[in-house]
Amino acid sequence: MGSVAEDDGFETLAIHAGQEPDPTTGAVTPPVYLTSTYAQDGVGGTRGGYEYSRSGNPTRTALETCVAALEGGVRGFAFASGLASTDTLLRTICAPGEHVVIPGDAYGGTYRLFARVLEQWGLDYSPVAQHDLDAVRAAVHDHTRVIWCETPTNPLLGIADIAALAEIAHDCGALLVVDNTFASPYLQQPLSLGADVVMHSTTKYLGGHSDVVGGALVVASHELGEELAFHQNAIGAVAGPMDAWLVLRGIKTLAVRMDRHCDNAEKVVEMLRSHAGVAEVLYPDTNEVAKRQMRRFGGMVSFRVSGGEAAALEVCGKTRLFTLAESLGGVESLIEHPGRMTHASVAGSTLEVPGDLVRLSVGIESVSDLLADLERALA
Ligand SMILES: *Cc1c(COP(=O)(O)O)cnc(C)c1O
Repeated sequence: MGSVAEDDGFETLAIHAGQEPDPTTGAVTPPVYLTSTYAQDGVGGTRGGYEYSRSGNPTRTALETCVAALEGGVRGFAFASGLASTDTLLRTICAPGEHVVIPGDAYGGTYRLFARVLEQWGLDYSPVAQHDLDAVRAAVHDHTRVIWCETPTNPLLGIADIAALAEIAHDCGALLVVDNTFASPYLQQPLSLGADVVMHSTTKYLGGHSDVVGGALVVASHELGEELAFHQNAIGAVAGPMDAWLVLRGIKTLAVRMDRHCDNAEKVVEMLRSHAGVAEVLYPDTNEVAKRQMRRFGGMVSFRVSGGEAAALEVCGKTRLFTLAESLGGVESLIEHPGRMTHASVAGSTLEVPGDLVRLSVGIESVSDLLADLERALA
């Protein structure tokens, strides 16, 4: 494995890490190993260590190797969805009775997993606004095992200081996990800032084409990697070979896609900031912490519409190119109303989002078309 060198750049790793030409045929693209099991040469005599595809599959290995390289970690793991990766990770590193600090405006599905599934298992959690480091310090205690961080947050684009959170976590014997879905490893590398684990919904920017659901974890220590490998197999929420292959293909163009997502989002932000129908634009380009820890600020833009929830719902129904849909991070532009769609599960909780909020996933179409579409919808 591995013609990639230690100091190869991000774009090189995205295309080559874990993806040597196939040793038997020379196929340049890793084959989709659609097999559940592997012939053994005598009992225990596996060829290359593969025995059953829940435990390991070469297409999934290629993806896991590539994601680990992009995040600068020692080992990667691919799952059936982002939430499957979160669930497996928490059951690996936490025990019932322990405590996790989660973001005050966590992704709705992450919040639901804590509130409706893991709490029943015995895991305690506290939602805290993580830009407020004093609030985080006040929330950790003897039983705190994890600070779960999302930055930028979904859908409010809040920023947390990864290096500072890592210090707080390590001071109390906890781990820092960063959900890096919004930034992607091209824009932000949490392990280099002190985080212990990075989590991705590969459904989003890593896959990048809205054609697959998946999740990934990358760890900074071999020891945690061993424990996670055991739980990945024992729980079994793994990525299938076809899904792993689609994410791997998406990753090859991650860098060029992210640069165009950022270019287009910056122009959309500029237009929205000067638009009379927009009360507030949420984009982290003015945040000092974001400027320190991110290369650029990504393709996600949220804004509050003047005129309240009814006006926001109207905008969501009037765009032509921005498709009204959940999810994000694909080449095509999407629009949604978090309060009624992605974040409906947090209605009534402290994580409820404003009704006048609209979230955009700015795609990589011609930016002039995107701007015209939004102007028309806001008119
Ligand atoms: C989508 C998303 C998730 C969940 O991932 P799935 O692949 O949908 O399970 C977690 N965190 C963030 C920030 C997300 O956007």
